[in-house]
Amino acid sequence: MTQVFKFGGASIRDAAAIRHLGDLLARFPARPLIVVVSAMGKTTDALEALLAAARGDDPADYRERLETLRREHLATVEALFGASAGPVAQRVEALITELDRRHRRHARRERPFHYDQTVCFGELLSTTIVAAWLEDTGLASEWRDARELIVTDGTHQAANVNWSATAERVRGLDLDDGRLRVTQGFIGATPEGDATTLGREGSDYSAAILAHCLAAEAVTIWKDVPGLFNADPRRVDNAVQLETISYGEAIALAWHGAKVIHPKTLAPLQQRAIPLKVRSFQDLAASGSTIGDDARRDGEVPALMLCEAQTLLEVRPRDFAFMDEARQHDILGRLVAAGLHAGLIDAGATRLSLCLDSHPERLEPLVASLSSNYAVTRRDDLTLLTVRHGDDALLRALGEGRDCLAERRNADTAQRLFPASQCPATWHVPT
Ligand code: ASP
Ligand code: MG
Repeated sequence: MTQVFKFGGASIRDAAAIRHLGDLLARFPARPLIVVVSAMGKTTDALEALLAAARGDDPADYRERLETLRREHLATVEALFGASAGPVAQRVEALITELDRRHRRHARRERPFHYDQTVCFGELLSTTIVAAWLEDTGLASEWRDARELIVTDGTHQAANVNWSATAERVRGLDLDDGRLRVTQGFIGATPEGDATTLGREGSDYSAAILAHCLAAEAVTIWKDVPGLFNADPRRVDNAVQLETISYGEAIALAWHGAKVIHPKTLAPLQQRAIPLKVRSFQDLAASGSTIGDDARRDGEVPALMLCEAQTLLEVRPRDFAFMDEARQHDILGRLVAAGLHAGLIDAGATRLSLCLDSHPERLEPLVASLSSNYAVTRRDDLTLLTVRHGDDALLRALGEGRDCLAERRNADTAQRLFPASQCPATWHVPT
């Protein structure tokens, strides 16, 4: 049965990392195997900056950034292939030339379209290098263009998958020739062939889409951490690894801000009962974490999620009228139109509180729009803490000495909003 492996930017950040990827894959001889790869290191950020330079009419900045991208990818090729770098270097050069051509061609189009036609090159470049390297090490592999596999609508930068068309194309792949397949995460295309992207960090989702269509045995996401934790180990000093959790629990953790897996990844896997494994690419002996049907260990330890750079908006009708459903509908409609997500929503008799990412480009227009009909107060620099499966004592301890500006609680989830200035750099879960 088919296996799908996904490797993120960190696991292919340079030549040494790509060599390591080859060694790792050599230890998994079973086929069919599909390897989904992100852009190298921080290439997607670099491509976003390139896009800004292209659209900001700063040709010198644009040239410099394009040259940096070119140089960095070519340096990786040189380091990997040495004297025989020629053919791969030529393919990289051709992709950079094509990227440049598209920037020029689409610079006057609306930004999301332009974004997708150009930012997709991060994955096209990385997979070109990775597939060539695997072939070079004797791992028979074929490069596949995800734009010919993942069919989406034209919602650029957040494309929706056309499942039936995608399934038809993916099932059309003949995977039984003993070669592994290397393809791009994050990208797809409309039926007309325009590139689309699935949202930042969308490569996990790509792996899940392919696995769903192939009814794969499992998806493995190889990461620079040993698995899933009950909190971000960089922020919480006593975070513990979760060995098995259910799809539902993992979806809740991702939704509330755990940054390990893209939130959309789990639904397509859950529908086919395909387990998702998170494993360390540095430590193959480590067992990792598995997300699947088994919910028995959910909530064994409380989980903590932190969302920083939050803004609290309190919206009130000007005439002391009720915050009734019609007004809530109006306010939430404007939120959707602004492209913002509220991590916490709390309604009172004459107030609706929204806790939002402080994303200036989206937040300021929303505040302006709401202020024309409502009284709006706002507070910035906040941290939203979400706790799953915490008891009263834990919540009390976590809130101690901090002003709680908004809160929400149900059977298994509690959320509290604190001024960031009152929050520690490193948290500790009291036990
Ligand atoms: N390269 C894309 C990004 O950085 C997709 C991914 O890494 O999953 O967002
Ligand atoms: Mg990434």
